[in-house]
This record gives sequence, structure tokens and C-alpha cells, in this order.
Amino acid sequence: MNHPSAYAQRPVVVLGLAKSGVSVARIFHDLGAFVTVNDRKSREESPEAAELEALGIPVICGHHPEDLITSETALVVKNPGIPYHIHPLQQAAELGIEVVTEVEVAWHLSVAPMIGITGSNGKTTTTTWIGDMLAAVGMRPLVAGNIGRPLCEAAVEAAKDDWIVAELSSFQLKGTSAFRPKISLMLNLVETHLDYHGSMEDYIASKQKLLAHQTADDIAILNWDDPICRAMAEATAARVLPFSTKQELEQGVFVRPPYPQTALGEADETERELVWRDANGRDHRLVGVHELGIPGRHNAANAMAAAAAAIAAGAAPEQLELPLREFHGVEHRLEYVRTHKDVRYYNDSKATNPTATTMSVGSLQGGIVLIAGGLDRGSDYMELLPLFRDRVKALVAIGQTRDKLAGVAAQAGLASIQTVEPEEDAEATLRTAVRIAAAAAEAGDIVLLSPACASWDMFPSYEHRGRMFKDSAHTL
Ligand code: ADP
Repeated sequence: MNHPSAYAQRPVVVLGLAKSGVSVARIFHDLGAFVTVNDRKSREESPEAAELEALGIPVICGHHPEDLITSETALVVKNPGIPYHIHPLQQAAELGIEVVTEVEVAWHLSVAPMIGITGSNGKTTTTTWIGDMLAAVGMRPLVAGNIGRPLCEAAVEAAKDDWIVAELSSFQLKGTSAFRPKISLMLNLVETHLDYHGSMEDYIASKQKLLAHQTADDIAILNWDDPICRAMAEATAARVLPFSTKQELEQGVFVRPPYPQTALGEADETERELVWRDANGRDHRLVGVHELGIPGRHNAANAMAAAAAAIAAGAAPEQLELPLREFHGVEHRLEYVRTHKDVRYYNDSKATNPTATTMSVGSLQGGIVLIAGGLDRGSDYMELLPLFRDRVKALVAIGQTRDKLAGVAAQAGLASIQTVEPEEDAEATLRTAVRIAAAAAEAGDIVLLSPACASWDMFPSYEHRGRMFKDSAHTL
């Protein structure tokens, strides 16, 4: 697309009201475009509509009108979650009208450089960490995107010397055309969201848009341990800065000594350190792995990615030790809750796929009583088998997938498996699960909520599930 100011006096359709839709509609309206906003949700479910109507922006709720998109439409800005097969987007495709997400708009608007972070897991953790690091070295980061605050809002606020630190989903990236962050970060890629993308190819192609338009003036930070991320070095003109937990690099950030090749297992972390090797081949010790504020090999990877981004943005490596040590993670991501009767409780409600749960379990030391289960999306959860065989001492299974998980655990030969039947409400069920887990745990053990599934079968969100878990743990 062109700069948003090029759409003055032209019809622009905003599909989807949420926070980012409101932000985009206001921006185009202020620039003189003829904006129409449309959302399939009813008027009652769309409290944001009144605010836009007060500005004179027409808002159509409850359905997609047949004549919403015409040959006159100059641009469609869609909410990332809306699938491409709906009628108005099909019409736009047939008429050759460009469809973008708010990320593309924000990029054109921003006078500040942008750090774009994507990957299947670890986005919010790494994005937040980068924000902390930049602030710690005296820069002004504006953290936004998939993490909550609309990117457009940050783009409008940002001054030239600021940094926009943007968490980006594959859905957001799919709707970009010229988008070109100064620094891109590809954390890891595993199979997920295939219901939306249709294929792994489309998912990877969407993610790859993050670095496809970067030039030699830009930097692409890539996970060298992940073959798909590594292959993306071929797909960008940017200077590549790799990070690795498994090997020393000619330049980049790595763990010394490297971790063993296997994903699971209790690696000794006291001897390991994070190292930045600069363009002259000089090594700078960043921090000891055991000194990081959040545990686990996956968080060492997130730390390296974040440090590489901060260095690429101009921070001196010596300045990063404190923000590396003092970051204590984001709520619902392997969050320490309390110790009760010598048992530690951790809330990892954000672990909504088996890979995330595997990483979390692998990063804790001690006997683990795992509370898992949730929305059934049709997977077989066999990926969790090694975990049940080697690392978990008891499973308390909840939600729609409880019997599937119990089945996998039984195949793995786990002795202690309990399923919790739904009670009058989800909170009561979770409370029972926590009580059962507490009874199964012995001194020195860990009770971990890391569901490997989305929450929507029982709770409105993973945040809600996590808070209920914490409440239950605190009232034991
Ligand atoms: P995202 O924003 O990509 O969903 P988060 O930072 O919110 O990621 O972390 C979600 C969960 O994913 C964490 O609780 C943890 O279990 C897992 N996770 C975090 N970082 C990584 C990583 N680098 N590799 C694999 N799993 C990770």
C-alpha cells in the first residue's frame, strides 16, 4: 500500500472493530479518507461503534453488506483474525483491491525505527524483554502489536529517536506488503495455526514477510538451531545475526558451553554463559545462564534473541547484564506462584500447545505434578509421551482433552494419572484439580499448570485460567 495520506478523499473499508480497527479508522478519517467500518458482531457486542460514529464514521454491525466492497474501494484494512474466505475479502480479491492489516499501516506512519518479533513460541516474553533492555540503557521503547496495544497507536506517538518494539503474529504479517522493520527477529517455527493458514507453507510464507523487504541496511536475527528459521537467511537481503544454544558462532549470540542436542533433560546450567561475539571476533560475556531471571533453555534462547536485538539497536553488551538478570518474565508464562508445604506452584497457562508445555516442563528441576488439558482441536497429543515417560511424576487431566491426555500418559507407563470430571463451573473443576495435585506432590516437588491446550472449553481466556489457578494455589 501507499502512505495512508494518499487515501484522502478515497473510500477505505475497515473490517473488524476491535482496538486496532478503531485506531486505524480514526487515523484514516483524520487523514481525510472516506472510512466505513464493518463488523459481523451485533451492535450490542460492539461498544466501540459509538465512539467512531460520534466522529461521523459510518459503522455497520451484524452482517457484511453485499455492496461493502465496490470497484471504487481504495483499500481494505482487516483485523488479523478474520479469515480470507469471507465474502467481502473474496470480492476485494476479485476486484484486485489491496487488503492489509494494521501492521502495514503502522509501518508507513512511523518515523521511528521498528523491531519486529515473531515466531511460534516466546514472542511476548522476548518482546517484553527487549522493551526492558532498551529502557535500561536509556532508550525509549514503545512496546505494541500482538501483545495488546495497537501498533498504529504506537506509530503515531513515536518520535524519530524512539524504537517501536512490535510483537507480530503470522495473521498480522500475512496482511503486509511493503512492511520493513529495521531489525527482525525470527524466534522459532513449529506447526500451529494450520486451521487459519491451511498449510505449513502458507504459515511459513506469512512469517517470512517479516524479513522479505529488509535491505543491507537492516538486520535479521535468526534462530540458528531451527532449520526453518536458518533457511530464511536465504530469503532476506538483511545482515544476518544468528543466535544458538547448540553451537559457537563466528558472530552472534550463543551459549558456552553449548547445550546438548536433545531438547529434554536436565542440563547443568551453573557452568553455562551467554556470549556475544562481535564483528571483530571479540567475545563479550553477557550473563551466566543460571543468573537469568527466568529458568529454562527456551528462556536462554529468548534472552539471546532479545540481547541480539538490543545490541543491534545500539546498546553496549556490557549494559545488558542487569536487564538480563532482573527480568522475571510475563504473567502466565512459567510464573512462580508460591511455595506451600515445600511444594512450588507454577502458572504456565499460556502454554497452549504441546511444544510450549514440553519446553516448560524441561526447564524445571524436581518432581513434576502436571495439570494439563483444555480445548480439543483434534490433535492426538502423542508429542507429550516422552514427557510423561521421563519427566512427569503425576498427571491431573482437565477439560475436553482429559481422556486423550490420560491415554497418552498411560501408554507412557505413568503410574499416577487422575482425570477431573467437570463440576458445576470451571473454577470449581480447577480448584479440585489443584487439590488433587497438591495431594499427589511430595516435599521438593512442583505443581505446574501447563495445559498444552487452549482454554476456551472452560474459560474465556488463558489469563482467566491462570488467575483461577493462582487463586486456588493461594487458598490451599
Ligand atoms: P507467544 O507470545 O509466542 O505465545 P510467550 O512468550 O507468551 O509466547 O510464551 C508462551 C509459552 O511458550 C511459555 O509459557 C513457554 O511455555 C513457551 N515458550 C516460550 N519461549 C519459548 C521458546 N523460545 N521456545 C519454545 N517454547 C517457548
